[in-house]
Amino acid sequence: MHQPTTTPRPSIYYDYQVHAPWLPSRHAAQPRQRVVIAGAGPAGMVTALELARHGVPSVVLTAELQVSQGSRAIVFTRRSMEILQQVGVDRPMSAHGLPWRFGNSIYRGRTVFRMEAPHDADDRFFPMLNIQQQYLEQYLIEACAASGLIELRWGNKLVGVAQQPDHVDLSIDTPEGEYTLQSDWLVAADGGRSDIRAMLGLQLEGASYEGLFVIADIRIDLPFPTERLAYFDPDWNRGNTILMHRQPHGIWRVDYQLPPGESPEQALQPESMKARIDAQLAMIGHAGTPWEMDWCSVYSARALTLPDYRIGRVLFTGDAAHLLPIFGVRGANTAFQDAQSLGWHLAFVVQGLAGEALLANHSAERVGAAREIIDEAGKSTRFMTPPTRGFRLLRDAVLSLSLSQDFVRPLFHWRTSRPHEYTQSALNSTGDDNALFSAGPAHGAPPQNVRLGADEFLLDHLGGGFDLLYFTEADALPQPLQQVVAGVRQRGVPVRVIAVGAAQAVQGADLTLPDADGHFRRRYGIRASGGAYLLRPDQHVCARWLTLDATRLAAAFAQALPQ
Ligand SMILES: Cc1cc2nc3c(=O)[nH]c(=O)nc-3n(C[C@H](O)[C@H](O)[C@H](O)COP(=O)(O)OP(=O)(O)OC[C@H]3O[C@@H](n4cnc5c(N)ncnc54)[C@H](O)[C@@H]3O)c2cc1C
Repeated sequence: MHQPTTTPRPSIYYDYQVHAPWLPSRHAAQPRQRVVIAGAGPAGMVTALELARHGVPSVVLTAELQVSQGSRAIVFTRRSMEILQQVGVDRPMSAHGLPWRFGNSIYRGRTVFRMEAPHDADDRFFPMLNIQQQYLEQYLIEACAASGLIELRWGNKLVGVAQQPDHVDLSIDTPEGEYTLQSDWLVAADGGRSDIRAMLGLQLEGASYEGLFVIADIRIDLPFPTERLAYFDPDWNRGNTILMHRQPHGIWRVDYQLPPGESPEQALQPESMKARIDAQLAMIGHAGTPWEMDWCSVYSARALTLPDYRIGRVLFTGDAAHLLPIFGVRGANTAFQDAQSLGWHLAFVVQGLAGEALLANHSAERVGAAREIIDEAGKSTRFMTPPTRGFRLLRDAVLSLSLSQDFVRPLFHWRTSRPHEYTQSALNSTGDDNALFSAGPAHGAPPQNVRLGADEFLLDHLGGGFDLLYFTEADALPQPLQQVVAGVRQRGVPVRVIAVGAAQAVQGADLTLPDADGHFRRRYGIRASGGAYLLRPDQHVCARWLTLDATRLAAAFAQALPQ
């Protein structure tokens, strides 16, 4: 019988709420579900919210009775915030998080590289936002409860999966014993140690890097701004790198590599942690400043992925699908993109708007993203913690040259998590004008935001279905285009037409956005009226035209919705 802990997790700044378990005896016979999601971490809950946005209900199972322990993911990127905006949790995140955009690489007491992440008037969100993962999970739980289409079952541990041709049979353990449930689809969002991966006998492919890393969250009053601080080769931990990040509630994250040969148990001994944190504080000129430990943990840098995220009726997402080095803030930030992608692909299949080929596309796109991230993260990891003598020699040469030579400094660039561009996606139109554009988001890229007013941006209006951005000054959308859109809508596919540039409402468009100074057009590389972009439900571009006609629009929809 599954007995999750009912004691609130310890924390000096966060009050853990213990939820009541969902018990089968208190509910009537279980009907077959369309989607069951195992896991209520960021990946599971964002998938549920995305499905709900498309009108698909789901049951979310979580083995625990409370949100995850410790701050875990603390840095959220702009693209993550844009995804969280779609599922309705950007406001509490912005209200409570700490925005930032500068990163400092420090060697021998000098800042040898200062990175500035781009941020301009067209961006609603900062490049980075620091907030502890428990808060994110809390806001997602609140959004799930408000959606009306998501049933979150606390204390329900998935313990058995049997694949059938058109559904899965699930065994679920609870504090009063097991029950069974059938579902058309199972989303495996059960985290890095995925039970479902083990139940299906699946192996992750890739590499684990040498070395273990300590993460420690301490409460301390330090006078530094919210910026990323990376200390290379400090005297107290030669050859390694120490990272420091400010979090809300007076908490700082300190992240360092263990010396070779030391076990995680030794590293987490209070006296060992104290000695190292004191040494780091002394090095940054704050010896003796009082501090208090909140949470600490050890992790290893791994770069692993399943080769396919669809196995029969089971779809893997987030850490269950891949394990990525956290350098470059890749854990949760990648999970959001996975979940956003899975949400619309699965919803369209469940609703019969596209064939199951769409799920193969989801898997191909997200496995491609994981492989790209693994490649980039490998470069960062090798620079931060060189795995061999050769890498160390190279890294040390960069460090010492950086004191006198400007040209080596960009080698410190830390390749932070960025949205994957589905450049090779099978959903991208083959007959459009993508290659003829000289500006704007290309095939597979997420859209560029555009400021429309004091508190109004383009991305506030996008998502949930296909969006056709049509640039025109005319009174009406051309009739043949309206007919194509009507035909697609008749099949149940949500499409919104947004006219850009006209001074008056454009007939045939759901929304008209002004562009009096032409800024929007320039940002999107539009040269004349009649140019257009087609965005998928995850907002990524699947077609763009310098001049759109009905035949090419129909072809783009056919390409993006395989039957
Ligand atoms: C110690 C630690 C520190 C981290 N630090 C960072 C960091 O600094 N930066 C960063 O970007 N990322 C960090 N991460 C990674 C980040 O937390 C994950 O990438 C992120 O949580 C992934 O979300 P997920 O939903 O895929 O998995 P998880 O958040 O792990 O969620 C898994 C969910 O599945 C549930 N579950 C598990 N098994 C079952 C089962 N059998 N049945 C039902 N439910 C089940 C769990 O209860 C949980 O709700 C850290 C992770 C850990 C563990």
